[in-house]
Parts: sequence; structure tokens; C-alpha cells
Amino acid sequence: MTDNDQQERTSVDTGTAQHHGGCHCGAVRYQVHGDIEDATLCHCHLCAKLHGHVSAYASVNKDELQLTADEGLRWYRLSEKTDRGFCKECGSALFWRVVRSKNIALTPGTLDGPSGIKTKSQIFCAFKGDYYPLDTSIPAFDHDD
Ligand SMILES: [Zn+2]
Ligand SMILES: [Zn+2]
Repeated sequence: MTDNDQQERTSVDTGTAQHHGGCHCGAVRYQVHGDIEDATLCHCHLCAKLHGHVSAYASVNKDELQLTADEGLRWYRLSEKTDRGFCKECGSALFWRVVRSKNIALTPGTLDGPSGIKTKSQIFCAFKGDYYPLDTSIPAFDHDD
């Protein structure tokens, strides 16, 4: 009986997840039980330091993001309002969240398989690195508007 209950719960969990993802080493794994918004690329200096290059974020509803492994997850406080989730074992950048927001952004590169989303905009283009060109097919903004 207990085994059956466990199996049922597990199949329900994976059955309703529309997306799966995680870090490189597997110490952080997540599921998304809803839609993922199209991604925004950020060219700012902070993201360059954190990600080593331009970053990409895609927003999901906090309630629809389920962590299935979080032993590697650490939160790095960026400011009083935002922090960034990463894996302390392999260093993968996974999440970015704003305090009291109903959304959380994930890095779409950590999704398993095709994301099914597009890139809707790129921001802080005025601050981009000088070593790569801008993709002019993506709507570009100098700041975060
Ligand atoms: Zn990891
Ligand atoms: Zn940025």
C-alpha cells in the first residue's frame, strides 16, 4: 500500500510538470508546472561578472516552480531586494528572484532539452562587453526598459 501511494505521488508530480531542469552536477533539480515566459538577455556588468558572459532569464510563477533536489542550492544576496540562486557544487547559475515578487526567473540554459520559448528582448545593451556583437534581430534596450 505504501509503495503504491509513493508511486502514485511520484507519477502525479512528473505528469503535471511541463519542464524539467537543473544544474550540471545534479545537486539542484527543478520542475516547472506551468508556462515559462520568453527570455530576456541582460548585458549588464553585474550579470557579466556572475555568468561570465551575457545572461538569460525566463520568468515563471514561484508557485509553479518545484525543487526536486536542492542540497546544492545557495542564495547569494545581490541587494536588499534581489538574490541569485546557484549550485555550490558545480557553480551553475540557476535562479534570480526579487523579494516579495510572485515570479522567479530561471536561466533557460539549465532546462533539460528544448525550452520551447523565444528571446523577447535584450537589456542594458549600452553596457555590453566589447568582445561580441549585438544580435540586431532581438529588440534592444540601453537600460532595463
Ligand atoms: Zn550542481
Ligand atoms: Zn544584468
